[in-house]
Amino acid sequence: AITAATSGLTKVYGSGDTQVVALDQVSITFKEGEFTAIMGPSGCGKSTLMHCAAGLDSPTSGSVRIGTTELSTLNDRRLTQLRRDRIGFIFQAFNLLPTLTALENITLPLTIAGRRPDPQWLERVVAMVGLAGRLGHRPAQLSGGQQQRVAVARALAAQPAIIFGDEPTGNLDSRAGAEVLGFLRDSVRELGQTVVMVTHDPVAAGYADRVVFLSDGQLVDEMTRPTPDRVL
Ligand code: ADP
Ligand code: ADP
Repeated sequence: AITAATSGLTKVYGSGDTQVVALDQVSITFKEGEFTAIMGPSGCGKSTLMHCAAGLDSPTSGSVRIGTTELSTLNDRRLTQLRRDRIGFIFQAFNLLPTLTALENITLPLTIAGRRPDPQWLERVVAMVGLAGRLGHRPAQLSGGQQQRVAVARALAAQPAIIFGDEPTGNLDSRAGAEVLGFLRDSVRELGQTVVMVTHDPVAAGYADRVVFLSDGQLVDEMTRPTPDRVL
């Protein structure tokens, strides 16, 4: 497990008339073993915060640390290495490779890192996503919901220390979403992983230990042990 933290994180897109301050001095800590949901209206900076915290985008000013490492001190190679070894990603657009089967997509992060999957863990991950019989299918042969579950399984397969998710259950019906989130929460409890999840769904946020609310690029509120009715 690992702690990620931003300090005075500011992100400005564009310049002059078209300048947008997406994040304005955001300081937040995602503690070891904690499941945090980020909520707020569209365009408030949720994705930008997640991308900067995960080292996918660089801040205009301020700092981001993962563990004891300040990301701005890393060159591209070391940053890639850190993402590969420590971080799991669940994107909205799945980013599944079309030429690989579901199972090959799930084990891809392990293959890239040159690690052998823990067979028992892999079996549980695959059982969780409920793809039995479709593991040999390519993404185009799976429904949107099935593709999303493959993306979640891929993020969990390598047991990363920290997981970043952008609407990880956005395309799932409520039952499939609950299964995936329940598994994510159990995995976090069991392995002590840190999870940061962007969501607009109060039910999804109810699985988190804490919800932080962004508005116009600033942190405006925070709630521990959220429930769907309190988040609404
Ligand atoms: P959210 O995830 O909460 O919808 P984003 O982080 O995607 O918000 O965007 C925050 C703000 O930054 C928005 O005003 C958005 O238009 C702007 N923005 C995001 N990405 C870019 C970009 N690549 N270029 C210019 N503006 C951007
Ligand atoms: P989900 O709730 O998982 O999104 P759907 O209701 O969209 O599932 O799909 C139901 C079934 O139809 C799935 O088992 C899936 O295998 C199949 N299916 C859906 N979309 C496609 C597609 N584009 N190509 C092949 N099979 C599909």
